[in-house]
Amino acid sequence: MCGIVGYVGNDQVAPILLKGLAKLEYRGYDSAGVAVYDGTSIQVVKSKGRLKVLDEKIHGGADLSGTVGIGHTRWATHGKPSDLNAHPHSSESGRFAIVHNGVIENYLELKSFLAEQGCHFISETDTEVVAQLLDFNYHGDLLDAVITTLKKIRGSYAFGILCSDFPDRVIGVRKESPLIVGLGNGENFIASDIPAILERTRDIYRLQENEIAVIKADGVTVYNMEKQTVEKETCHIDWDISAAEKGGYDHFMAKEIMEQPKAVRDTISPRIKNGRIVLDHISLTREQIEKFNRILVVACGSAYHVGVVAKYIFERFTHIPVEVDVASEFRYRDPIIDKNVLVLVISQSGETADTLAALREAKRLGARTISIVNVVGSSIANESDDVLYTWAGPEIAVATTKAYSTQLAVIYLLAIYISEKIGVMSEADYQFYISELQSLPDKIAETLDSREHIHETAKQFYQKDDIFFIGRNIDYAMSLEGSLKLKEISYIHSEAYAAGELKHGTISLIENGTLVIALATQKRLFEKMMSNVKEVKARGATVLGVTTYGNQHIEKESDFVFYVPEICDMMLPSLAVLPLQIFAYYVAYLKGCDIDKPKNLAKSVTVE
Ligand code: GLU
Repeated sequence: MCGIVGYVGNDQVAPILLKGLAKLEYRGYDSAGVAVYDGTSIQVVKSKGRLKVLDEKIHGGADLSGTVGIGHTRWATHGKPSDLNAHPHSSESGRFAIVHNGVIENYLELKSFLAEQGCHFISETDTEVVAQLLDFNYHGDLLDAVITTLKKIRGSYAFGILCSDFPDRVIGVRKESPLIVGLGNGENFIASDIPAILERTRDIYRLQENEIAVIKADGVTVYNMEKQTVEKETCHIDWDISAAEKGGYDHFMAKEIMEQPKAVRDTISPRIKNGRIVLDHISLTREQIEKFNRILVVACGSAYHVGVVAKYIFERFTHIPVEVDVASEFRYRDPIIDKNVLVLVISQSGETADTLAALREAKRLGARTISIVNVVGSSIANESDDVLYTWAGPEIAVATTKAYSTQLAVIYLLAIYISEKIGVMSEADYQFYISELQSLPDKIAETLDSREHIHETAKQFYQKDDIFFIGRNIDYAMSLEGSLKLKEISYIHSEAYAAGELKHGTISLIENGTLVIALATQKRLFEKMMSNVKEVKARGATVLGVTTYGNQHIEKESDFVFYVPEICDMMLPSLAVLPLQIFAYYVAYLKGCDIDKPKNLAKSVTVE
């Protein structure tokens, strides 16, 4: 998410910040701003929109004189994109200005505490709370103020901090969000990513969690939370700029696949407080929830596949019947809907034309609507009654990976939340599912560790013309996404079938050597799946099974296997989708396809 640049040196800082931010544009943003110490005070200029708008506002930086400053491109999470919500944010006294990348989970508590002390807030952001808190904790020692503040906040962050009492320095600190230190000649930097500084230096420090870097023109000192100095090792970067933008990965898709543990953690953890799911921004009352007699999920593409998984999850957890519809069909089928129907619309961009039209139709018919969206302030987010944001950060590859995973995470949260509200789930089950949910990010990371094995397996199959996916129940829902991922980036024809349905026609397409990917993660259906595997093997198929560790029995029936860690049945899709994403990626890679921009596809489909 977002971009941070900070500079201390002898050159005019504003043009350097603008240039650095331009190199971080690939990360996605909705507004931009800079803060410069001008010899007397900190000047802040910021605006909604592209960097060009900011650039014109300050005439390429010429309007701001000074050699110490911080800059930011914002990807809104708390508060819509606007001039006021853009960073940097200042404390009321103007002593501190900060830029932030990440999410402060306890900002509401801190905000009300500071309001009681007389602070006034002008933005909707979580970040402004940190600027004010720094000032509140400041008693003449900058490092003390930073450390005390860090101890009070929960969440993910990379900060760039300016303090007018110490105008020769910028402070940089991070936890779960990226920030590097650039080491120049008579000048030093902080940045979210290497491309921002590559023109001026190739020597960097990588900051560990909660290491505090004090950046001055003539040197950088790094402290830990005990105020002791930390020895850092200089790392020399020899990547070219385009490799640097992708964090060293060959494609954004690979980078985004690897970002999934963090994206899912960012989506889940702010919403679990003291062992309870708290959906702060949902205005639904228990009485309204109790009246729902149907849930309708409407979406397109991969988001629709999340909907198909959601059907199994909601029905299992809430016992409320669920229908799933492709948005472009829903619009024209005269759906039967009233105020007791909950309509969930899912869209990464929040601008998908068919989904937006479906949302409007559902509202016109009187349904209650909740959207699951990644882009704050987008049309779908604005127009739905309630919105649950996925905090995946900007997704650049056209084929979704981390947005899909975070949408699923929101489905689990919402399903468990509703089932508890209507008294369908026992307290013991509630606690069990919450702890399963909290274990998910680490299990996602563990699953991603097997990518080399998947790469090797892909080498056997990348020249195939047809690949089939089969599964039962929630594995069938998963197979839809596995098949779509493969065909959209590798252009291999692929179909997903409910395993029991194959013999009603499609099995005639299975020939010697046809690859069938069999998803068999659901324990209670494992034997049934093995029968379906035998059916295709008897017709010459090569079978690649996907199951959980410990289920070695599958090796008797399949030619190849991908294993994923154990988790409760309903959450297995979040793990089983990962080898399918990685498999699709490597097949497309080996075929030499344009993975991040597959032909004929667009990231945000804003036409009907
Ligand atoms: N949570 C902050 C905001 O919404 C920072 C977002 C970002 O990482 O750009 O302003």
